[in-house]
Amino acid sequence: MAKKRRAPQGQKKRSAAGKARPSAELNAVIDDLVIGNRILYVQEVVDGYGHISARHPHHPDRFLMSRARAPGLVVAADIMEFGLDGELVHPDERPVYSERFIHSEVYKARSDVNAVVHSHSPTVVPFSVTQVPLRPIRAPFLYPEVPVFDTRASAGWTNLLISNAALGEALAQTLGKNSVALMRGHGNVVVAASVRVAVYRAIYTEANAKLLLQATMLGGPITYLAPEEAALMEKEQSRHRPSHGSDRTWEMWKQEALDRTGKLR
Ligand SMILES: [Zn+2]
Repeated sequence: MAKKRRAPQGQKKRSAAGKARPSAELNAVIDDLVIGNRILYVQEVVDGYGHISARHPHHPDRFLMSRARAPGLVVAADIMEFGLDGELVHPDERPVYSERFIHSEVYKARSDVNAVVHSHSPTVVPFSVTQVPLRPIRAPFLYPEVPVFDTRASAGWTNLLISNAALGEALAQTLGKNSVALMRGHGNVVVAASVRVAVYRAIYTEANAKLLLQATMLGGPITYLAPEEAALMEKEQSRHRPSHGSDRTWEMWKQEALDRTGKLR
């Protein structure tokens, strides 16, 4: 896959440097995706389950994701290409994640999304089965809201897995224009314009859930982030200043993940 050199199709995307060749850009996305898998494992957002994907940088109607494998073990050779029907672009014997339709349907519904994380991050799940909404304390991207998707509402009795396109589409509809949706009794989906921001958001969704749980235990009214404060924080976060915002945390998480889980290739 990485050896295949083709002219970019559809909306041509420039690399950050504006001059990298398509293959270099694709390799950079694959590297981020592999590192993202490892980071999410080391930071305890995923365990043996959960996955992260990236939209293909040259083919907006495709996405990249590992073969079915524990995220902490994923290497570059595991990354495969999927179409927006959730099926492999190049037929392959290797097993695929049954919940790949979470990714395919979100990419279909949201042209602004280039990365998707699905996890069962533990502190988030209680907010999916109670009436307590997951509201922002430290995670500004939780605005405008964090909707809760329930498979029961659209498909009746299921094993809760998003294992077909219809369930994926219903989940993407519930997500709407938001960055995070909870999945009742199961986990959550987190989206962003890049792998790095999706990883940051998945980690901070879990962190925010922990803080909110602790604040609730202390009792009394909780002062949440105001939408105005959240908008200012998001603006700062999106400035891409080296060593600031999510750039700083990515470097730290990456180092820790590589130390604990080994080489990418
Ligand atoms: Zn799941």
